[in-house]
Amino acid sequence: MAQQISKLVVVTGAGGFIGGNLVSALRARGQKNIRAIDGKPLRDWYQHFDDVENLSLDLNLKDNCETAAKGALEIYNLAANMGGMGFIEHNKALCMLSVLINTHMLQAALKYGVERFFYSSSACVYNAEKQKTFEAPSLKEEDAYPAMAEDGYGWEKLFSERMCRHFREDYGLRTRVARFHNVYGPWGTWYGGREKAPAAICRKVIEAKVKGKHEIEVWGSGVQTRSFMYIDDCLKGIDLIMNSDILEPINLGSSEAVTINQLVDLAEEFAGVKLKRNYDLSAPKGVNGRNSDNTLIQQCLHWEPDTPLRFGLEKTYRWIYDQYLARERGDARVVREASTSSS
Ligand code: NAD
Repeated sequence: MAQQISKLVVVTGAGGFIGGNLVSALRARGQKNIRAIDGKPLRDWYQHFDDVENLSLDLNLKDNCETAAKGALEIYNLAANMGGMGFIEHNKALCMLSVLINTHMLQAALKYGVERFFYSSSACVYNAEKQKTFEAPSLKEEDAYPAMAEDGYGWEKLFSERMCRHFREDYGLRTRVARFHNVYGPWGTWYGGREKAPAAICRKVIEAKVKGKHEIEVWGSGVQTRSFMYIDDCLKGIDLIMNSDILEPINLGSSEAVTINQLVDLAEEFAGVKLKRNYDLSAPKGVNGRNSDNTLIQQCLHWEPDTPLRFGLEKTYRWIYDQYLARERGDARVVREASTSSS
């Protein structure tokens, strides 16, 4: 147990949403020896902790990946250039360049004898043909093939999944791969262009409420369906999958499908407002319907992400509300002080 706790665990993308929350969760579980890495300067990380080795490194570069992996027993590779539909539809080359991160991290993991390697894939690997209806098709793991992934971002994820598989098969590196479906929660991106639907909608509703302008813009027709997984479920799933014998990519997502309109309904309810909705049909909106089929994760882990959207979204809404007001006041300290605790 003592050895377990003192092993070096590496988290890449630690300055971002899931990576930052993962470092926080590992600390809470008693993990003492953590190396956190992100390409952004430390001041821009969403969360960082004084009792963690924090490195600001560009992991597109092989040498930096070796610095990251040296001495590690486990690596959680969460670094990637990503964002909501508005970002990935307009930055396909940049998204595909994340292939460098996973390639170099896998090579470095092999070089330094890393025991387990976690890769964060995405529901964007699924074949677009299977996501044409609005009735939220539940996507099973096998639905990624024949391949017709989300252009750019999804193809990179699918390729990197396969690279994990072949490093496992050919070189014996224990790789584990989860396909995340829309993760949301506190400490996520909520403005600036990379935010995803739950955060974007919370922010728009908050802005309408604060400014007293009772209308919002909704991307698409509002009837697209999705499922959204609360960050706590994501963290639990990462832990279970990393420590399992699940060799193939597996869905890690909620199976509670909702329309974008229902997402807006919830945010309006938390805000206590009713807004006029202006639907922008020319905005990036992604596939019509998508849901996570959780048969396999249930079979393997006897568990699936189960935080009700209403519960998770309300927490997220309250967090974004505080961030919004702090930002309006120009009070960046509020975020920073909360994020550098070493307790
Ligand atoms: P995020 O953008 O908040 O975090 C990703 C981090 O990676 C960022 O802080 C970024 O600076 C860092 N990064 C990018 N390029 C880098 C580089 N060259 N070197 C070092 N760091 C670099 O995103 P997130 O939501 O926390 O996502 C984490 C992982 O989960 C990503 O791989 C993402 O593709 C995957 N994922 C996320 C979701 C979701 O809904 N959030 C869904 C599916 C998959």
